[in-house]
Amino acid sequence: RACLARIKATDSQLNAFITVCEEEALAAAAIADQQLAAGNAELLTGIPVAVKDIFNTLDVRTTCGSKILDNYVSPYDATAIVKLRQQGAVIVGKLNMDEFAMGSSSENSAAGAVRNPWDQERVPGGSSGGSAAAVAAGQVVATLGTDTGGSVRQPASHCGVVGLKPTYGRVSRYGVIAFASSLDQVGPVAGNVEDCALMLGAVAGYDPADSTSVDCPVPDYLENLQEGVAGKKIGLPKEYFIDGLDADIKQAVDAAIATYRQLGAEIVEVTLPHTDYSVACYYLIAMAEASSNLARYDGVRFGVRKDNGEGLIGMYQQTRSAGFGDEVKRRIMLGTYALSSGYYDAYYLKAQKVRTLIRQDFQNVFEQVDFLLTPVAPTPAFKIGEKVDDPLQMYLSDIFTIPTNLAGTCGLSLPCGFSQEGLPIGLQLIGKPFAEAEILQAAYAFE
Ligand code: GLN
Repeated sequence: RACLARIKATDSQLNAFITVCEEEALAAAAIADQQLAAGNAELLTGIPVAVKDIFNTLDVRTTCGSKILDNYVSPYDATAIVKLRQQGAVIVGKLNMDEFAMGSSSENSAAGAVRNPWDQERVPGGSSGGSAAAVAAGQVVATLGTDTGGSVRQPASHCGVVGLKPTYGRVSRYGVIAFASSLDQVGPVAGNVEDCALMLGAVAGYDPADSTSVDCPVPDYLENLQEGVAGKKIGLPKEYFIDGLDADIKQAVDAAIATYRQLGAEIVEVTLPHTDYSVACYYLIAMAEASSNLARYDGVRFGVRKDNGEGLIGMYQQTRSAGFGDEVKRRIMLGTYALSSGYYDAYYLKAQKVRTLIRQDFQNVFEQVDFLLTPVAPTPAFKIGEKVDDPLQMYLSDIFTIPTNLAGTCGLSLPCGFSQEGLPIGLQLIGKPFAEAEILQAAYAFE
């Protein structure tokens, strides 16, 4: 009830929610009350959470921030949702996001832009902007987002909360609307490291319904959270500490490095030499995969149909023209181009080869250090409208988060200070594949 009241009081300004499930939440909370009274509570019994509107939820609308899915109600729950419910979580609603998770500012939503709770003239980051803003504003305790190129970590950074992108395959993508299938991963956002660890433990694990989920045991992420970082080797990739980095961010990250040194970690400079190619490589692969994944929205099987009676092709055209926003159309066109015969080898195949080099950079570096420490984004949260007409500028702001997705490994964003204007700044810890426990421990030690 406190969360619902908080949402009512704040969401007309923030626009973090697309759908609030008041009745369902109160019913789930009543069941949680009984379970608590009977002494058979699970890990998340009664905990109010919310999820990005990209997760299919039974009987509740799932729009993915798009007009084309405005009326879409899934006939099943995504695996991550099933798991949250099994752990007793109370799902309070569905969170706003960039359409089909394409964006870095949560401005590309059919439901309108999300505002940053720290400064409502600024973006909360994206694409999981609703997921980060809702936690920052105290609307719910924790949320789920998805991260294809930074969409959990960057908004967490801009909103002063903790966000984790697990290793590719750690959390099932079954029932999560696909953007770029080889990059997408589900990730938790929470107000502190412990809650983030709790949420990861609740949703992680092998799922036969997702052939890319990996069958390796899920550790108890809370068990050794206090392990500390004494004796750990932390790498600073020199390509991430470039001249253009915002001065406040540099200062906050430098202070964090000093703290880790005090906590007993050894700090060494390392190199990820192919970093410069990662934005170009990512935007080719992500758009190519998106153009293929979004072919299913044809007005026949899902969502909204527009049909002026001009035949099948006419119906496709009208539906897709009216249903998709500008950024989604841009990506479908560029992705289709990159995959078309004659261009495939020059673009898509080339990008896949570069991706292998980027992945090898990480493999090499993880033979020298335990994890990496970097900034999350080159600047703090920018103003609403500032980059929306300049897609290239928007894409470039993902430079520090994208390589992790291309390499398939895990990364975490945690608050490490404020800019002079009072905006939160995040620190990124990048771990070895399936070393979520290790970066959570390192984050906990800092916090
Ligand atoms: N900003 C990146 C993009 O627009 C990443 C988005 C994401 O991680 N879903 O593709």
